[in-house]
Amino acid sequence: MLGGRILPAFTDFDALPWMCGCIIQGMTTNERIDHLERLLEVVRGLTTAPDIEAFLQTIIAEASEMTDSELASILEYDPEAKELRFLSTIWFDRDVLRPMGVPLEGSVAGEVFRKSHPLIIQDTKADQRHFKVVDRVTKHETHSLAAVPIIVRGDTIGVLEALNKRDDAHYTEDDLTILATLGAIAAQAMRNVHLERKVTAARVQLAELERLKTDFIAITSHELRTPLGLILGHATFLKELAGQEYESQLDTIIKNATRLKDIVENLSDVDNVQTGAARVRSHKVSMVKIAEDVVLTFQDEAKSKNITLGSDWGNSPHFIEADGVKINIALSNLVKNALQFTEPGGTVHISVGEDSGYVKVSVSDNGIGIPPRDLPKVFDRFFQVETHLTRKYGGMGLGLAVAKSMIELHGGRIWVESEEGKGSTFTFLLPVEGAAKPVRSTGPFVG
Ligand code: ADP
Repeated sequence: MLGGRILPAFTDFDALPWMCGCIIQGMTTNERIDHLERLLEVVRGLTTAPDIEAFLQTIIAEASEMTDSELASILEYDPEAKELRFLSTIWFDRDVLRPMGVPLEGSVAGEVFRKSHPLIIQDTKADQRHFKVVDRVTKHETHSLAAVPIIVRGDTIGVLEALNKRDDAHYTEDDLTILATLGAIAAQAMRNVHLERKVTAARVQLAELERLKTDFIAITSHELRTPLGLILGHATFLKELAGQEYESQLDTIIKNATRLKDIVENLSDVDNVQTGAARVRSHKVSMVKIAEDVVLTFQDEAKSKNITLGSDWGNSPHFIEADGVKINIALSNLVKNALQFTEPGGTVHISVGEDSGYVKVSVSDNGIGIPPRDLPKVFDRFFQVETHLTRKYGGMGLGLAVAKSMIELHGGRIWVESEEGKGSTFTFLLPVEGAAKPVRSTGPFVG
């Protein structure tokens, strides 16, 4: 207690209205109005000041004027050095004070910080707690001081102090209330800076992880491709030489090596798109011809799984200007998934048609479908609806990411509609050959 009123122990932003109330209590009407107007102006600065530095300068300028002090400064706790550092000081002290640490023991600011409680020292000469190094460095002499903790959501993060009350007057409880109020406003700004720093650090970490992932994909796919090619080549050669006796064993080797090759191809497709190395060699190609090739590729697999693989595309060849290999990869990945996620006895249907200047291709199945919460994520790299621990289906979570990249490289769009337990329809649109290049943000795109 000072002067019969309870000192404000908290300089948290949430306590601001209460603190403003305290200011109202102890002053003449004109003083109150003046102080409240100034505080309002400072609060407005929270959103209008060009940067935190400018804003905190306003705070210390107001702190020294409103408490009738020579100087004021804000110190921030540095958790690594475990000491306080000057965050904002009067400009002519800035360069000497910035590098200086103020210890938590043996300084007034340190005590205010540790105890999270305001403090007034009317005569620093008679009080050993004052940290005299600062006076020596700045060549000021501190006679008196008032300091309050700066608190953010219960955590003390710094100290606001005012030095040398003018005309040798004593600091009062009103001065502490003013400092506490300004400290609470500073706390809000400092919290924003803390959050910004955290977000920046997280962004840097994410970028580094992304780089590691990209490097990993590039190296893995590159290093696996050559030995796999050799295994496949030699196994095929041996199959021809060995005749029927070892056919089934060699078929198993070839089948699994081909699976591995598909995975490696997917990995390197993702890498190529990411690094911008993917080249589109566009020609006039028939979308129907591509779809027919894909149906041929998957016919046996569909039959062996007892799934009906149907198709419809009328008589038009549906020409597009595209890299046929890439569109084949995209459509193959959709059909491969449809077959994988459909139970025996089900159907997978491919259709090709035209819609307002676009060739429209859909792959529908009546398989397991995709839960609504996962729909926005299925085109993300490495995403799978099942977690890898409980997985029943194989795959790397790359097929749809590759398909999306391939379609978007051609100025097209891809999306999915699905109902859990009922089935899914993946659709993509590609500009009709000879049509004006599409404007990305328009067109009949959804999803
Ligand atoms: P993967 O190669 O693992 O299948 P994809 O990127 O092709 O990866 O697909 C991602 C995930 O989306 C799949 O693991 C699956 O959970 C879901 N999915 C894709 N296509 C279908 C489909 N036709 N029916 C149900 N789920 C599907």
